[in-house]
Amino acid sequence: MALTPADTTETAPSTAEPGAPSETPIPLIPLEHPAEAPRLAPVEQVPGKALYKTALPGVMQVPADLVLAAARKSSLWPMTFGLACCAIEMIATYMAHYDLDRFGIVPWPSPRQSDVMIVAGTVTKKMAPSVKLLYEQMPNPKWVISMGACATNGGPYTRYDRVLQGVDKIVPVDIYVPGCPPRPEALMDGFVALQELIMEERKGTGA
Ligand code: SF4
Repeated sequence: MALTPADTTETAPSTAEPGAPSETPIPLIPLEHPAEAPRLAPVEQVPGKALYKTALPGVMQVPADLVLAAARKSSLWPMTFGLACCAIEMIATYMAHYDLDRFGIVPWPSPRQSDVMIVAGTVTKKMAPSVKLLYEQMPNPKWVISMGACATNGGPYTRYDRVLQGVDKIVPVDIYVPGCPPRPEALMDGFVALQELIMEERKGTGA
């Protein structure tokens, strides 16, 4: 609202007792800073329009679950552990040439703060309880990427009894990355697919 000279000379209501000596009126807007007058003027209330849209033009209004989902998908912390040769490709994906940091993806050496488990390699029945324990130690919400043929269905070792026929037998898998081994680009594609999944399922992730 534009300020008129009359507005700048408006004074605060007097609180003096009747009969007391009169005091110098205090202007509501300091007269020595006339350039600040428009900024200090009261915001005009437009009926039917939120006050913050008038006071703060340009502020976006979005659902809270959308903000939370965007924060989650932009700060994925995969737990660092590998089971077999696929882990070498996973490690290569973390290196400078592919630079997952630009996606907000930071490898983390503890399940306590991680939200993504990448199962990279052959899951033997001997190792399966440890994989399940690590998954259960991760806080919610959490996601699992099955990297490579071995983690998905046993891969080249599927006919061996000591190999698990897919890690989804013990933990829920969200993304499957095919290959033996998948190249780093394939794992990155899996991460992008996971980010899209998080945005699609944002209403079901406890937000
Ligand atoms: S899928 Fe291939 S590269 Fe990956 S762990 Fe199995 S044998 Fe190794």
